[in-house]
Amino acid sequence: MLSLFQNMKERRTVLCLSAAALLWCGIGSPAAEAARVTGLREAYGAEAASAPLSKEALLPARRELYEQISAATGIPWFRFAAIDQYERTIAKKAKHTPAPSPAASARLTDIRIPDPIWNGPLNPDQSDTSPASIRFFGGLGRDGSGDGLAEPENDADVLYSVAGHLLSYGNSASDFSIAVWEYYHNGRAAQRINQFAKLYEHFGRLDLSGSAFPLPLGNLYSYRSTWGTGRSWGGARIHEGTDLFAPHGLTVRSTCYGIVETKGWNRYGGWRIGIRDIENRYHYYAHLTGYDKTVSRGDIVSPGQTIGWVGSSGYGKPGTQGKFPPHLHFGLYKDRGLTEWAFDPYPLLKQWENQEYRALKNKKKK
Ligand SMILES: [Zn+2]
Repeated sequence: MLSLFQNMKERRTVLCLSAAALLWCGIGSPAAEAARVTGLREAYGAEAASAPLSKEALLPARRELYEQISAATGIPWFRFAAIDQYERTIAKKAKHTPAPSPAASARLTDIRIPDPIWNGPLNPDQSDTSPASIRFFGGLGRDGSGDGLAEPENDADVLYSVAGHLLSYGNSASDFSIAVWEYYHNGRAAQRINQFAKLYEHFGRLDLSGSAFPLPLGNLYSYRSTWGTGRSWGGARIHEGTDLFAPHGLTVRSTCYGIVETKGWNRYGGWRIGIRDIENRYHYYAHLTGYDKTVSRGDIVSPGQTIGWVGSSGYGKPGTQGKFPPHLHFGLYKDRGLTEWAFDPYPLLKQWENQEYRALKNKKKK
């Protein structure tokens, strides 16, 4: 534990030094290039990447890596964080894939640049690590760690390569959107990455894991596990969510740190709202009687923040109410890149409720 901490401290020193050197020399000069390369090599050479980090050490270490590449390239850290987080949340956790190489399992980030893009599609060597020949074939791969190699399993090399791609479009928020679109050619990917970048920028930190129960705790509501029972209001479709029965007008609160992705009328959901969290989960609240005035599309919300009120809207043209008893329909969907899957929110609802009860009890004790 101590050696890990010392390692972190050294990384921090290196970061400050290289950032200072860059400010002094200006980006692009040979001296700046040398300072960048030396700094990154010291921080992310082979010895530093030898062992996977503990959970507690992971986020600070990631943040430092983003900051370091940010200092070297001028791209804000939260843009690297957003791309990295997006790739992490859609990564397939296949059961039968071969064990990752030591270099891959010691990585801090999850950005995986496909071979033809890294090496250049016409490069005859699809495991090329020579920055010069990769550049010749139009590949993205670059050497950010300063060891003379462009390696797709080296975090500094990968982020520096991503930075190279981003910078070829410019450094504004809209340049970033275009660069991301050109890389993924997938509108959902571009939307997610922009959402994540906004969240990280707004909160200024990587840990956005807090939660809240969607209704104020108490005995006014009741809910049980109804996943896939087909007893949804409206019948035919399987029930993708949990119904929380509650009095008309009870507060509905955000369950996560997230960004409002959808808001408005839906034939089945009535007045509904959808919030995307940093884990790429879509939190869906339906049948509301109305929305809190402060919540609009694109807004950022925190756990426990009021977003609307329980109602019985839905199953008809806009404004239809009262076709069923008032309740909050709560759903959760996980984005897998090209598709989005509903999953049973009941276990998480229970967990969030228990966590909030425990936090309240601890507060009272103090
Ligand atoms: Zn429902």
